[in-house]
Amino acid sequence: MDLHAHTNLSDGVLTPRALVAAAAGAGVDVLAVTDHDTTAGVPEALDAAAEVGLRVIPGMEISAHHGERDLHLLAFFDRSALERLDGWQEARRRSRRARLEEILTRLDALGAPVDREAVFGGLGPRQSAGRPHVARALVAAGHVPDFPAAFDRFLAKGQPAYVADRGPTAAEAIALVHDLGGLAVVAHPRYDDLDAVLEELAALGLDGIEAYHASHEPAEAAHFDRRARGLGLLVTGGSDYHGGSPDDPTGGAARLGDVALPPEDWARFDAALASRGGP
Ligand code: AMP
Ligand code: ZN
Ligand code: FE
Ligand code: FE
Repeated sequence: MDLHAHTNLSDGVLTPRALVAAAAGAGVDVLAVTDHDTTAGVPEALDAAAEVGLRVIPGMEISAHHGERDLHLLAFFDRSALERLDGWQEARRRSRRARLEEILTRLDALGAPVDREAVFGGLGPRQSAGRPHVARALVAAGHVPDFPAAFDRFLAKGQPAYVADRGPTAAEAIALVHDLGGLAVVAHPRYDDLDAVLEELAALGLDGIEAYHASHEPAEAAHFDRRARGLGLLVTGGSDYHGGSPDDPTGGAARLGDVALPPEDWARFDAALASRGGP
């Protein structure tokens, strides 16, 4: 199983149909489709999954913040929740594009101008825009040698073209997910340095921790698995696959289905999802 993967409805490379085919080819039996702030790819993934006998869990990776910290919350839903998310997603789509406009204005001032068309021209109407789309344009324009350099020089937090994403607070995001009958799981906690705030997130109603992630070493995964147990939280695992390209937090190391989530953790998660069962 693999509970974290992206399609080209956000910053992944593959269409939802192609992602499902790749997952089936890799022997994955259960796949959560978790694009950034959108479930727009889920219906196509569900259709494709029915054809190849794979189970798709509708999901989304919400960009949120908690105090000074940015964090990503994986939301897992029953498909009946999807239509109730339309308004929220439309607002987030607009806000994400406005943020990219601000980033492009900064890049102009920094002497690394990027043609708006190169960023926005390739985006579909329902696609969730993100910094990776700017990073690819920076590479194409020759301002940086490769994708990681775009983050290191310009786009990462603390770099000169960084603009904060004014998404929901963690408390708001968790409440939204619960209102829709879903489960809220904090993604890649080491990558976002969240160990010190897991108690606070648990107090807000967090359901689980993604202890197993392509960017976590085995010892880190074991650490977060223990933390989850100590807090009475679920444990999940995902590859964070973006299409096998070098442009993801794992540098393209993520392999679909390459997740060491223990079977008992998966069983607890699956039972919890079934017992929520939608709005
Ligand atoms: P955004 O949604 O605009 O905040 O962009 C977040 C996405 O950018 C992440 O999901 C990754 O795919 C990618 N990303 C963020 N930081 C880095 C980094 N330092 N190096 C490479 N990719 C990154
Ligand atoms: Zn991403
Ligand atoms: Fe993430
Ligand atoms: Fe992700």
